[in-house]
Amino acid sequence: MDYDEIGLKVGFEFHQQLDTQTKLFCDCPNTIKETEPDFEFRRNLHPTKSELGEIDRAALEEARLSRDFIYQGFEENTCLVEADEEPPHPLNQNALNIALEISELLGAKTVDVVHVMRKIVIDGSNTAGFQRTALISTDGEIKTEEGEVGIEGISLEEESAQKISGNLEDEVVEYNLQRLGVPLIEIGSTPDIKTPKQARKFAEKVGMILRSTGKVKRGIGTIRQDLNISIEEGSRIELKGVQELDLIEEYIEREIQRQKSLLEIKNQLEDINKQEIEKKIVDVSQIFKETDSGIIKDALKDGVVLALKLSGFGGLVGKEIQPDRRLGTEFSDRAKKAGGVGGIFHTDELPKYGITQDEVKKLKNELNADEDDCVIIVADKEEKSKQALEAVHKRAKQCFEGIPEETRKPLENGSSEYMRPLPGSARMYPETDTPPVKISKGRIKQIRSNLPKLIEEKMEEYKTGLGLDEGKARDIAKSKKSEIFDAAIRETELKPTIIYKTLMSHLPELEDEGYKVNNLTKNRLIDLFKLLDKEEISKENIKEPLSEIIEKPNKEVKKVIEEGDLGTIGKQKIREVVKNVVEQKEELINERGMGAVGPLMGVIMKKLDRRADGDEVSNLLQKKIKKKIGRD
Ligand SMILES: [Zn+2]
Repeated sequence: MDYDEIGLKVGFEFHQQLDTQTKLFCDCPNTIKETEPDFEFRRNLHPTKSELGEIDRAALEEARLSRDFIYQGFEENTCLVEADEEPPHPLNQNALNIALEISELLGAKTVDVVHVMRKIVIDGSNTAGFQRTALISTDGEIKTEEGEVGIEGISLEEESAQKISGNLEDEVVEYNLQRLGVPLIEIGSTPDIKTPKQARKFAEKVGMILRSTGKVKRGIGTIRQDLNISIEEGSRIELKGVQELDLIEEYIEREIQRQKSLLEIKNQLEDINKQEIEKKIVDVSQIFKETDSGIIKDALKDGVVLALKLSGFGGLVGKEIQPDRRLGTEFSDRAKKAGGVGGIFHTDELPKYGITQDEVKKLKNELNADEDDCVIIVADKEEKSKQALEAVHKRAKQCFEGIPEETRKPLENGSSEYMRPLPGSARMYPETDTPPVKISKGRIKQIRSNLPKLIEEKMEEYKTGLGLDEGKARDIAKSKKSEIFDAAIRETELKPTIIYKTLMSHLPELEDEGYKVNNLTKNRLIDLFKLLDKEEISKENIKEPLSEIIEKPNKEVKKVIEEGDLGTIGKQKIREVVKNVVEQKEELINERGMGAVGPLMGVIMKKLDRRADGDEVSNLLQKKIKKKIGRD
């Protein structure tokens, strides 16, 4: 596809949780635990017009539905700030430093004074009814192979509460408060990205830079990205909360496909029917009195079947606009959202689902619809059905304009579904409870002189400088252990592969065996590497001393080795063991000659508890055997 010709434009918004000790506006620990809540409370949020200022269309759409919110609180990591019973504390300075560091890495210009602002949020994900956010820097830039991409702004924000149950259409929504207030950095790019491939590369690069700080959280849900996608004749849509890097290209391809199909539909509508479609909702329950359709039969017990004719839409509603999604699916998304109904039926797909040819015929007659038209029906309680069809009518009208701007939810297969209208921009007002923070030149200078090396630079160094293979170089460069690795390389003469194996194989193995590997400090590991370097511990047996050091965190490393008798075995003892084994296995040596070295090495190393250097033992053994068989 010629992306240039269709005028593809893609921009990103990244949300990355920061790995600080405490939250952004209180001293609660920045941790999320799988435990039962200690308490619960209930709220009902009603934004006032004055709070909203210029009323936001996204906020408004959600405000139509009156809901109660239940919040789960935890003694350990939620306090009165999360409950909105106490004003926020001053901005977490460590989080601010991380945001400044990331700004520097992205070449952005830091603001002189950081002001905390309130951003209206009325889905209940914040107990206060707004999210606190502070602009840190603007005008950065990232280079990709396909060209430069601008960074519009970088903000420090508080994370929202995590939804436990309930959706927009439900009356009660439940949230867990642990995540509320976790520091989050928001990075917005300009819409300079011109191909799906470039989008993916860009997202990879931003992720790499963020991880290079070693100060961001890792794992599922700790980074989310929103994609803004548009084509020349189409509209901007926001794909919210994409997690899978692997799917970025697919999401963009499918959005292009959706917008192109919707533009084709617009053209066809112009050819067929330029008039506006009528919003005439008709009760057609009578037609389905004897129906075999289970869904309709159920709905008719205490509800109705309502119908709406879309003139000129015959054949178009059934048209596929994304794999497995039709224009009818877009209508259905709106109906579900607005009316809380299960879905819609349309005559492009009927007869089906137990609805007969005869019923379709009667339906079309009743609404005066011919083959150019499509009839939509909804079966549910009267008010819900009506709201659903009104939403379908509104969406159908938008087909004449082209593509509505909206926020969409990414689906696992690469397609997307309607979420809500695009949020407007007038949603912020100042947070007066936290003082502004002036950013001094000295502070920026300090951060600039301590910038971390990027993972991709480290990888290159490990490959070319230390001779590690690509896989190992990548593993260690991406790992949080790379700092310890660097220190061990600096302070010892050990082979990089031995340090790698200790950190990346032995430690994870011990962790699997139940050892508290996280308690092991950098200094203790370096002490261990130094003993290895001086051959006071054998390279053949690192795991055992390592496990002992973990078990005895308060004892000096050298002492642990001495007292546990875990050091290398003296030369005298090695000679003794080799001599004994050679004497005992005389028969085998006579039979195999030098071929006995292999099997005997195993026997000897076992007797030595592997606490001796393999090469040294092998040399000694070979000498002894040669002497024995008289080839010396
Ligand atoms: Zn707190």
